[in-house]
Amino acid sequence: MHHMTLAEIARGLADKKFSSEELTKALLARIAQLDPQLNSFISLTEELALGQAKAADARRANGESGALLGAPIAHKDLFCTQGIRTSCGSRMLDNFKAPYDATVVAKLAAAGTVTLGKTNMDEFAMGSANESSYYGAVKNPWNLEHVPGGSSGGSAAAVAARLLPAATATDTGGSIRQPAAFTNLTGLKPTYGRVSRWGMIAYASSLDQGGPLARTAEDCAILLQGMAGFDPNDSTSIDEPVPDYSASLNGSLQGLRIGVPKEYFSAGLDPRIAELVHNSVKELEKLGAVIKQISLPNMQHAIPAYYVIAPAEASSNLSRFDGVRFGYRCENPQNLVDLYKRSRGEGFGAEVQRRIMVGAYALSAGYYDAYYLKAQKIRRLVKNDFMAAFNEVDIILGPTTPNPAWKLGAKNSDPVAEYLEDVYTITANLAGLPGLSMPAGFVDGLPVGVQLLAPYFQEGRLLNVAHQYQLNTDWHTRTPTGF
Ligand code: GLN
Repeated sequence: MHHMTLAEIARGLADKKFSSEELTKALLARIAQLDPQLNSFISLTEELALGQAKAADARRANGESGALLGAPIAHKDLFCTQGIRTSCGSRMLDNFKAPYDATVVAKLAAAGTVTLGKTNMDEFAMGSANESSYYGAVKNPWNLEHVPGGSSGGSAAAVAARLLPAATATDTGGSIRQPAAFTNLTGLKPTYGRVSRWGMIAYASSLDQGGPLARTAEDCAILLQGMAGFDPNDSTSIDEPVPDYSASLNGSLQGLRIGVPKEYFSAGLDPRIAELVHNSVKELEKLGAVIKQISLPNMQHAIPAYYVIAPAEASSNLSRFDGVRFGYRCENPQNLVDLYKRSRGEGFGAEVQRRIMVGAYALSAGYYDAYYLKAQKIRRLVKNDFMAAFNEVDIILGPTTPNPAWKLGAKNSDPVAEYLEDVYTITANLAGLPGLSMPAGFVDGLPVGVQLLAPYFQEGRLLNVAHQYQLNTDWHTRTPTGF
């Protein structure tokens, strides 16, 4: 049962081959058996899941249908879930039970999804390896000695290990696409404003965006359909009609113009990944696409700009966690300053503290112009590069990551080395563009992803290209040994 995709589950439920309750019980048993190896969940919500599954079965018995009705999923643990711990991977929120559901959670619940639990993540979504979680690192099911990517490493490892068919995730600088690449999944970061951020605990508000992680583009289309849409509670949500994503999957790629940026292939990219990227290009050419070399000249400045803007916003967003208004409070504070200092010092982990300090520094009166303002100018240049490129091509294609998943602990002593791994993903967040990562082969037994970027609100185009690719390749069907 656990090998089924969301699309297969929907058909099976519609044909009464099994009930959502049976499926939910089977997956909960599988999680209990296998997750101790992976640590992909922070909380399991068995009771909620069984209640939702029974309710979904009853709705189907009453003649209702829907691709997500009775579908088991999990939420990254930064989506607020009413009455359920929402930890954000941090000691700071270890005992926080959200008083309301995030819009994404509420929309998916209304569509009939069954929440199996809350998935592990880098603390406050800061990281590319899922090693900064207060609840411990997550292991990559393809090789338990390697990281699953981050920050949505728990969602990715759980879906890759067939503990469930799909999960929600968020992407501030690559946290959907990079773990998708590292675990052989398909992951989509939508256009900024496409999916509501209401109830999604903020890391960097101008970059954060929720999206689906699944095994296929077809399943990403199904899950995105349930997540996307205008939300009056989120002032950055955009009131743009949501197309039928599943209907967009079958378009022909004849004449599709794919741009491949020359800057993507400079030093730093594992040549074996470069070869797999070229293979994916050849595959898409066979399907009728036309390839064009393009240039994104400001790409080299994107990492420094991102690692000023994201920490700057984080330092502001995380100021509310002070032991008084929100979050962990230290024992026996001596006075107010001691309370603030120790609550934040004990509640936040090292990486979060590093980001808060970098951000506060970049925003300080004496350095604002030199760092924050400069970074915002670079952000505009990065966006302009994309706008120019999309005058010439329909899609931009390249690697999702410069290297495959590294060994657990390999980058712990050098945060900048980890930041550099985000080189291909963060530009889409700076520009607000949609991006998708899809499985495209293996290096040393570890999965490799290819990233597709499209103009604003062209999620359907990304899903279309990835689906056509997946109809003609079988990388996405490969399963990690032991799972
Ligand atoms: N690795 C990036 C960071 O640490 C992106 C994380 C994310 O997308 N949430 O900021």
